[in-house]
Amino acid sequence: MDVDVANEGIGSTPLPHDILWYTDGDVVLATDTFLFKVHKFILSMQSSVFRDMFAFPAIDSAQGASNPDGEEVQEMYEGLPMVVLAGDKGEEVVHLLRTLYERDYYYRDNDDTPLETITALLVLSTKYDFRLIRSDVIHQVSKKYPMSLEEYVYVDDDYVKMFGKFRMECHFPLLCAFLKADVECLLPPLYYACSDFPIEAILFHAKILSMDPQSMLFLIGGRDIIKNTINELIATLPDQIRENAVRSCASFGSRCCTIAHFSNLRSLSNSADLRRIAGKSVSKYLHQACDSCEAYIKESVDRKREKIWYALPSLFGLRGWEILKEELAKLS
Ligand SMILES: [Zn+2]
Repeated sequence: MDVDVANEGIGSTPLPHDILWYTDGDVVLATDTFLFKVHKFILSMQSSVFRDMFAFPAIDSAQGASNPDGEEVQEMYEGLPMVVLAGDKGEEVVHLLRTLYERDYYYRDNDDTPLETITALLVLSTKYDFRLIRSDVIHQVSKKYPMSLEEYVYVDDDYVKMFGKFRMECHFPLLCAFLKADVECLLPPLYYACSDFPIEAILFHAKILSMDPQSMLFLIGGRDIIKNTINELIATLPDQIRENAVRSCASFGSRCCTIAHFSNLRSLSNSADLRRIAGKSVSKYLHQACDSCEAYIKESVDRKREKIWYALPSLFGLRGWEILKEELAKLS
């Protein structure tokens, strides 16, 4: 079949890929930009979707003749069956195929793997059911977005490098990829990571990454609740120190009641970042309090912070942590 005819329906003329064009390949995969001459056996080994696809006689046959019943005709390229990967970008399919063919192209302990590779592998391995690749990517990303507050705070540094970028640059692309791949278990930490951005940045990323409207609403709604809860917590701190001073202050004559005070609390408000409201950090804004009152404030703030983290899945319309932890254990 003439290449131009074969490529009908996939836009501009794709060209054979420099690397992924094996002379003894027995199937051609076609995308918007590249053609890949690869092996049915290699694809079938790891992907149930390709295994099922190649089980059909039409694709198994290298003849490409139209079928006598006038049903679907197998597209051909230079005598080989050709499968058009509708909607897949050539550059992204390159990542998937090179992972299949090259032992050192992707491995889950390498955090220098470019972000584009990670997201492409996740989305395509989900679409074509490459379970091992999908599981490796989920495992790798789960280490960067842990499900407990303590572990999350430990890795949460905006400017640490991962996947070839600053950590803060990875949140939105990863959230959108995990939404597309329908991996619910990592969505709470990813939604949370995207929450501490200005609304303009959220709308911008949602647009360029084609985030679905429902998920965008979950993100904005959850972010509002986190920020409001943090603001409420900050606003009640002066009352809390007075109340504790009356009950259990260790200073002479409950002096904290009158002299302990907070200053500059405003700088802690209007943020969705739980790192900033750790008890230890908040106590730096407390002055002239006795050790007992200071410890009370630290514990109280940390308890409320834990409660916000515990509520994260429900804030974003997801199932609870316990179910999501079980899901992660199965998937990774
Ligand atoms: Zn006190």
